[in-house]
Amino acid sequence: MSLIEIDHVTRLFDDPKRGSAVKALDDVSVHVARNEFLCLLGPSGCGKSTLLNLIAGFDKPTSGSVRVGGQSITAPGADRGVVFQQPTLMPWLTVWENVAFHLTMQGVGKEIRRKKAQHYIEMVNLKGFENHYPSELSGGMNQRVGIARALLMNPEVILMDEPFGALDEQTKMEMHAELVRIWRDSQSTIVFVTHGIEESLALGTHVAVMSARPGRIREMLTIDLPRPRDSTSPQFNDTKRRILQLLRPEPVEA
Ligand code: ADP
Ligand code: MG
Repeated sequence: MSLIEIDHVTRLFDDPKRGSAVKALDDVSVHVARNEFLCLLGPSGCGKSTLLNLIAGFDKPTSGSVRVGGQSITAPGADRGVVFQQPTLMPWLTVWENVAFHLTMQGVGKEIRRKKAQHYIEMVNLKGFENHYPSELSGGMNQRVGIARALLMNPEVILMDEPFGALDEQTKMEMHAELVRIWRDSQSTIVFVTHGIEESLALGTHVAVMSARPGRIREMLTIDLPRPRDSTSPQFNDTKRRILQLLRPEPVEA
């Protein structure tokens, strides 16, 4: 059994202005095994966030089913940690208090919160910044805080929606290396949304290439390039070329 099972999912959004519906996802089926690192890759508006939100439990499919660990998803849960493009930190809380935020909500005492937060702060390489405020950190560091906050719940699945989209190239590459290390150390399963071909190839064990409206899975690729991934290697470029072909608009049927 796969950890995440998405079967024949269609999601329509009402468009009252036009009196019609937008088909964001059309008969999408994806299975993700435990420990996989799946990248959902596709152009803007192809339904990546819609699909991720369904797994997160923020939204429900119009038809089809979404299951995690055999359970049908009806709401967000602690088994799924979400990292957004903007880390959505509380500016009035320090790094460690942000990381431990969910525990505060659960009424866990300060000593345990502090200890647990420290473990994940060290995992994302932020030791020494525990008492800083988000405004005192760079974008990449804040994104690490967001990742530590998601990891602290020890979720089975980490869902990430273009988390490095706002970072410069150099920082992004550092974050990629960091995330691969975290993925290995925490033995988690990751679903990562991106529109970047190189980003998907730097990270994924699998890349699901999506086609634009209505969102469908064009092809599921297994990426068995050696790590750390070398974006200048011939194999890397072969795979990139293949993805570029898949991303070309489909010919319009007569
Ligand atoms: P992506 O993340 O790949 O850029 P989205 O999943 O955000 O794409 O959106 C897919 C399509 O569904 C787009 O056409 C978008 O306008 C539409 N859509 C997404 N969310 C909503 C919503 N809440 N209401 C109406 N339309 C939506
Ligand atoms: Mg999106």
